[in-house]
Amino acid sequence: MALTFEQARECVLREARGSPEAEQVPVLECAGRVLAEAIVADRDYPPFPRSARDGYAVRAADLPGELRVTGEVRAGEVFAGGIGPGEAVEIMTGAPLPPGADAVVMIEHTDRTGDCVRIDRPPKAGDNFSPRGVEARRGDVVLAPGRRLGFAEAALLAMVGRQCVSVFRQPRVAILPTGDEIVEAGEQPREFQIRNSNACSLAVQVRRAGGLPEILPIARDHYEATRSLIERGLDSELLLISGGVSAGKYDLVERVLADLGARFFFDRVLIQPGQPFVFGAARGRFFFGLPGNPASTMVTFELFARAALDLLGGASAAPLPLLRAKLTREFRHKTGLTRFLPARLSEDGSLITPEPWHGSGDVPALARANAFLVAEADREFWAAGDDIRVLLK
Ligand code: AMP
Ligand code: MG
Repeated sequence: MALTFEQARECVLREARGSPEAEQVPVLECAGRVLAEAIVADRDYPPFPRSARDGYAVRAADLPGELRVTGEVRAGEVFAGGIGPGEAVEIMTGAPLPPGADAVVMIEHTDRTGDCVRIDRPPKAGDNFSPRGVEARRGDVVLAPGRRLGFAEAALLAMVGRQCVSVFRQPRVAILPTGDEIVEAGEQPREFQIRNSNACSLAVQVRRAGGLPEILPIARDHYEATRSLIERGLDSELLLISGGVSAGKYDLVERVLADLGARFFFDRVLIQPGQPFVFGAARGRFFFGLPGNPASTMVTFELFARAALDLLGGASAAPLPLLRAKLTREFRHKTGLTRFLPARLSEDGSLITPEPWHGSGDVPALARANAFLVAEADREFWAAGDDIRVLLK
């Protein structure tokens, strides 16, 4: 059954589900992990009305005019007393607003002489400070389970006083290279052999997507060898098979999986690279059969397996990092397939240039690229300067 790119992605999002266990990690080691608990604010944030500027705490209604400065308040202190009519208190960024004040005037807009400060530009009540509790109220859920943790989330955990956090265990991902022509990267290939680069790109992709890769030995193109390694791979939460899913005489992967009682959600997607591409489940585990050409393996992982890993790891699937940019030259392709081609995005993200390449085996071109140009299946021609979709690499 052949699906369009969009249908295949929907199918993965619908079918892939995990029920991972939780474990505790220090907040400093939470990068990329998926939150397994709800994080609650331990107090109001900010916990006091907090000045956003260095300047003077004032009553807006007193201004414009001249005010008597009755003291100062620094960050980490609290002003003893309040602000009465005609008074101001010098205040630093991060300090609590004294009672009675309803605005902060930036130092740049004031003129101080002795105990007096002159302010000609009247502020509005509420200017330049954050009222208590505007960011979060004590007891609010500030992070829900399923969130992947990054730097801002780490800051939030530290802010509410957490040093450890409950996260889901990372899915184990078996990577199974196949093919009689493949040798390990550490070996000297003979003229007609190629090194196993897919296991390496996939392991890096799996790690980046929050999984724990385990690279299995290369399955030779024989039924028994392929079957026993596929069975071993199905011990992991996800099995990624590279190669062996085309229609060739020695492409055994689908046959082996069918014999193992697999359910296939699809076995062809109308994309290039990556047309023969299998997603299914067997023995309670999910698997992808990725076409062996390096570009196909990389692209199909990014488009589909990555979302499955999110879901298996207890996260919601991250949106694809798609944007739009202007083509620096015209582009044409044959309709019917959504194409993902190596390209270079300009530093400011506005211009995209297809990278010269020689088909799905051109690893150097894939390494030179910093993005993929996405040519929609139903459009044939883009002129130079036209907008086109781009998938970040
Ligand atoms: P297949 O999908 O098995 O027909 O493989 C297609 C092509 O991908 C092969 O001819 C190889 O050149 C290449 N290929 C397959 N497996 C790997 C691998 N593990 N590393 C690098 N290239 C591979
Ligand atoms: Mg093969």
